[in-house]
Amino acid sequence: MNQVKGELTPGLYLVATPIGHARDITLRTLDWLAVADVLAAEDTRSLRRLMEIHGVALQDRPLLAYHEHNGARMRPRLMAEIAAGRSVLYASEAGTPTISDPGFDLVRAAHVAGHAVTTAPGACAAVAALTLAGLPTDRFLFAGFLPSTGAARRKALRGLAGVQATLVLYESPRRLGGMLADAARELGPERDAAVCRELTKKFEQCTRGSLESLAANYAETAPKGEIVVLIDRGDSMIISESVLEDRVRTALQTMSVRDAADYVAAQLGQKRRPIYQLAMRIAADREDTP
Ligand code: SAM
Repeated sequence: MNQVKGELTPGLYLVATPIGHARDITLRTLDWLAVADVLAAEDTRSLRRLMEIHGVALQDRPLLAYHEHNGARMRPRLMAEIAAGRSVLYASEAGTPTISDPGFDLVRAAHVAGHAVTTAPGACAAVAALTLAGLPTDRFLFAGFLPSTGAARRKALRGLAGVQATLVLYESPRRLGGMLADAARELGPERDAAVCRELTKKFEQCTRGSLESLAANYAETAPKGEIVVLIDRGDSMIISESVLEDRVRTALQTMSVRDAADYVAAQLGQKRRPIYQLAMRIAADREDTP
């Protein structure tokens, strides 16, 4: 797939668009925007504005909306355009398509139909945050947006507690304080983390600290803007039996067996099952003691 005398060969062309600063666009994306036969976008107004900023004329080419609410209806139309020999460009509202954004079904449909698919990579908030935050990047797990309600969010966090990789989460400013408090509880208060806000924009900010300190920082006031949260991996060191027992005994003074097991496992980055069994034993011994 390539540019041939100012034209693109038939296929699906995925482009990344800026996540803040309008100049974070690649030359290849601008080339494709100028010549693709059909333009499709999650938000047509955003794409039109970006094209205006960079002096790319739409001319009489179609600019179609493709988003999660009309994807099923629009996919056959876009596939038909490619089958008819046209190049179809797709951009999500900001950043990289398919990353917590629409586009996955479109890409899959194009592959299944045997069409050519290619991408001009570029801005992505997750990668920008990893680049900036000074937390380990050798392994990371992108988990997108966590569930918004308390119980579901805590369950999701418990599922991530043992992951030996930097966690990358998208979060709304409104929920940031609650999410950090839950993360401190489920993953352990001392874990290093970073809140990356308004990346590439005027008020870009990267606040680093323990989960506990960040939770305290954002408990009262919700910050403004867009946010990526990064959380360092848990401590994978072998914990001695006596330390483990000590932590479980302390937790059992104020918690049920189940909660104590969850808490200690998360705090120490250990598997929950053996800790739960240990907590059961300690609780049973206590009951037997007159
Ligand atoms: N596809 C996009 C990407 O490549 O990053 C992500 C789209 S997702 C719907 C939007 C979320 O990404 C925001 O709620 C925020 O968590 C994160 N995000 C997007 N732009 C950001 C920015 N400039 N600074 C910090 N986070 C950002």
